[in-house]
This record gives sequence, C-alpha cells and structure tokens, in this order.
Amino acid sequence: MSSMDFRVGQGYDVHRLAEGESLVLGGVTIPSPRGTVAHSDGDVLLHALCDALLGALALGDIGEHFPDTDERFRGASSLELLRATMDLITERGWQVVNIDATLILQSPKILPYKESMRENIAGVLGTGKDRVSLKATTGERIGFVGREEGTEAMATVLLTKEH
Ligand code: MG
Repeated sequence: MSSMDFRVGQGYDVHRLAEGESLVLGGVTIPSPRGTVAHSDGDVLLHALCDALLGALALGDIGEHFPDTDERFRGASSLELLRATMDLITERGWQVVNIDATLILQSPKILPYKESMRENIAGVLGTGKDRVSLKATTGERIGFVGREEGTEAMATVLLTKEH
C-alpha cells in the first residue's frame, strides 16, 4: 500500500523599483515607467516561488543556488531559475500539489497579465493552472511599496511524494 508524504514551503522576496528598468513579473514583461533593479530580470514573484520550493525540501535559498555575483545569472530569465529549482524538486521525486502567491505592487494593475503569469508558472511547475493561485494587492500608498520605491512577493507551496 502506498502512502503520501507532504512538505510545505514559504518564500518572500523584495526588489527596488527605478525609472527606466523593465518590470517582469511571473515571466511576463509589463509596460511600466518603473521596473525592478536586479542582477537577474528581478522577477520578485518567481524569486519568492523559488524560495518556497527550496524551503519545502530544506534546500537552502535562491541566493545560495543562483548567486547574484555569478555572471551566468546576469539578466537571467527567472523562468530559467524556476525551471532549475523545479529540477531539484522533481529529481528528488516530489511534485507540486498547489501554490498560493501574493504580489504587493502599487502600480500598474497586474490583472490583465495575471492569467499569463499563472500559465507560465503552471507550465514550469508541471501542474494545472487551477493549482496556481496568484493574488495582488497595492501598498495603500503607504510604506515603500505605496511610495512605489519597491515591490514584494510572498509564496506558499505544498509538495507531495508517493512512497
Ligand atoms: Mg529577488
């Protein structure tokens, strides 16, 4: 008789925003006068998700696996970082049950891009879009998010493995 094992992981990331930088969230480039300042593409949402995946299996964090001092990751697409992270999960026999993520960004509104982001994430995670929840909120014009100085994201993931 087989039994299921489960692991939960959480991730958090923050990036500074600056004029003239590109804004890439969930692998989607979003038109915006301000974008994230980063060594990679600065996809705060996918970075939080990578950390949640790594956290579930106690594999450290994204900075240990993909150091921002490493030239290989300069301007890297975070979809590639997510793919490499997911390889660490699947090669250990685990799969994603579901993910739930929250993006905190003052502007622009991400609603028009949400479905594309969910599709990108579900594709890399090898799961259905119905198992990828993405929520967004503003900074209520207070704090660093509200002043559009930065953006942050949180993600929770549940993994399972059959024995
Ligand atoms: Mg980051």
